[in-house]
Amino acid sequence: MTRAFNFSPGPATIPEAVLRQAADELLDWRGTGMSVMEISHRGADYAPVIEEAQADLRTLLGVPSNYKVLFMQGGALAENAIVPLNMMRGKAVADYVDTGIWSVKSITEARRYGAVNVIASSKDDQHPELNYTRVPKQAEWQPTRDAAYVHICGNETIGGIEYQWVPDVVAAYGTDTPLVTDMSSHILSRPVDVSKFGLIYGGAQKNVSMAGLTFVIVREDLIGHAHPLCPSAFDYRVVADNDSMFNTPPTYAIYLAGLVFKWLLARPAAIGRPDLTPMAAMELLNVEKAALLYAALDASQFYVTRNVPEDRSRMNVTFTLRDDALTMPFVQAAAAVGLKGLKGHRAVGGIRASIYNAMPRAGVEALIAFMREFERTHG
Ligand code: PMP
Repeated sequence: MTRAFNFSPGPATIPEAVLRQAADELLDWRGTGMSVMEISHRGADYAPVIEEAQADLRTLLGVPSNYKVLFMQGGALAENAIVPLNMMRGKAVADYVDTGIWSVKSITEARRYGAVNVIASSKDDQHPELNYTRVPKQAEWQPTRDAAYVHICGNETIGGIEYQWVPDVVAAYGTDTPLVTDMSSHILSRPVDVSKFGLIYGGAQKNVSMAGLTFVIVREDLIGHAHPLCPSAFDYRVVADNDSMFNTPPTYAIYLAGLVFKWLLARPAAIGRPDLTPMAAMELLNVEKAALLYAALDASQFYVTRNVPEDRSRMNVTFTLRDDALTMPFVQAAAAVGLKGLKGHRAVGGIRASIYNAMPRAGVEALIAFMREFERTHG
């Protein structure tokens, strides 16, 4: 069996060691004679699975004690509704920064629950070639006085731009306005100071687990203010009070997340850098992989990158071929040699190489070698 290098944006590649362990214990989990997906979420066997997953996520991100870690369902798009339903807290307006397609989806959904001010945007209708190629600087923000919160998308999975900095809400607002971020596609890829955020959320199917699970990390004082019409299963208070088991949680996705967390905790030792924290180790590896790929792109006239270098995503590397007619042949030829999932999002076209935590450096090197060969034969 040969495993492909899977560059898909999500569901995405999962560490091979994790898949092997999951396969090994699929039929008989810890001597129970049952699969972990067959056992009760309320039983004594399962309890340590969800408890450890939660504790390990706290350790990995250094989540402060006044934050809750919640496991939920409905994808990040459900969270786009769940956020305003919990976070408007009787206020009239929520602020959003627009950096691309995922921001727009968040904004559109939030408008159903209150007024939204888009306080900065890198949309550029006048210059389509510059559209969403950067993250607006904080100096461009036009904050709303008394906004319920300010929402950013930390990494635009489709456009391939990423915040390399954390906004300073106190400087922007003069008050501690909660900073909310969609971290779907870069959580656990780098160290993060959770205390700078009121709320972090995202879907698990990139750097955390399989699809079906969402993570929510929320400061405790922001819990308990849900709109009366918020479904109970989506009320942070209800979910927190029930330890993420108000209803049946996605037990297998949480189990798999737990294996990924153990894999991450073991990374510093595995790469011979026990001096590093797991997140520092991941950042080191991710910076290396992204730098290799961007350097190859920058050295070529055949491939084109649009995004401003300082805002380029480390997770989703987007580019086009100067001759767009070669895009599909590129995608197909790459797939034929085991480099899968490189087709750009249907809304923007081009190529997207998603190089999440589980993508080994060898995968990036194989992609670069393929790109050079493709350029040589088609350039
Ligand atoms: N936000 C971001 C940044 C995403 O990348 C995605 C999915 N690719 C979503 C939201 C939507 O997630 P879901 O499909 O889990 O609802």
